[in-house]
Amino acid sequence: MTQHFIVIGNPIAHSKSPEIHTLFAAQTGIEISYQRQYCPDDAASFTAVLEAFFQGGGVGANVTVPFKQIAYDCCAACGGLSEHAKVAGAVNTLLLNKALVKSGVPITEALYGDNTDGQGLVNHILSLGWPLNGARVALIGAGGAARGVILPLIEAGIAHLTIANRTLSKATALVTELSAASTAIHEQQIETCRTTELNGQFDIIINATSIGLSADTLPLSDTLNGDYAYDMMYGRPLPFLQHFSARGAQISDGYGMLIEQAALSFERWTGHTIDVVQATETLHSR
Ligand code: NDP
Repeated sequence: MTQHFIVIGNPIAHSKSPEIHTLFAAQTGIEISYQRQYCPDDAASFTAVLEAFFQGGGVGANVTVPFKQIAYDCCAACGGLSEHAKVAGAVNTLLLNKALVKSGVPITEALYGDNTDGQGLVNHILSLGWPLNGARVALIGAGGAARGVILPLIEAGIAHLTIANRTLSKATALVTELSAASTAIHEQQIETCRTTELNGQFDIIINATSIGLSADTLPLSDTLNGDYAYDMMYGRPLPFLQHFSARGAQISDGYGMLIEQAALSFERWTGHTIDVVQATETLHSR
């Protein structure tokens, strides 16, 4: 029987998720339909879309910009959130608690939200053979993407984290919030600074800003160096990676993170494990 999935966003036409999940389904031998779902940018429309989808027998939904916080609010209202979603303050993967629905609870109160973005980043970095355990990591950015990767990076055993952001107050507020939200995160483990003041030697430097969407480049210190540089953006030339490649670092964009987070969503929904290496090779060869 075909299992139905959607990815909800605005805009959504560019999403690669249907292609990725269709490939996962072929790999695991299950029959799925995975559609892009446009939604007007308001909470009422978002919950109406979810209600209609799950009412119609949908199995799982991915959530992308700008709905990750709204999805979090929906799940927080009924308490169905994973630890990673709670700490990230955002949901990218939705499941329905069918037992609750059977017992008469409305669909909108039976949603369970997870966030696989941060673990997707960690899994991709590990698959590249880059060291995370004991690593000194610099994370540039203090928005939603940065927030979602902090707990998974700490769980992966990094030794020290520096968060650099254009607006310093957002980085310091983020650390205070996260250390209150999770016992695994300690304020003493994390330093903050302005992006322009980030300097010294790191094992891994991660760009979690949205600067790649603009024509700007990050103002990086000449004394900032890393053995490895990762940009969470993908699909376009990235000056951040060019900068560190020229200084001898190994580099990666965020396409592998996208595939890894999708594999985790697929596994949550279906119970099937994905061979991500094989899936990545197939996607690259297209
Ligand atoms: P947000 O809007 O929440 O945060 C943007 C961040 O970028 C802030 O820290 C902001 O700094 C910083 N920033 C923006 N413009 C500039 C600039 N000109 N100079 C310096 N800093 C700047 O975005 P998200 O966190 O949601 O997304 C960040 C990136 O991560 C996006 O490019 C997104 O595509 C990517 N991403 C990739 C994923 C993947 O699977 N590969 C998954 C999720 C996200 P300030 O606080 O000062 O405004």
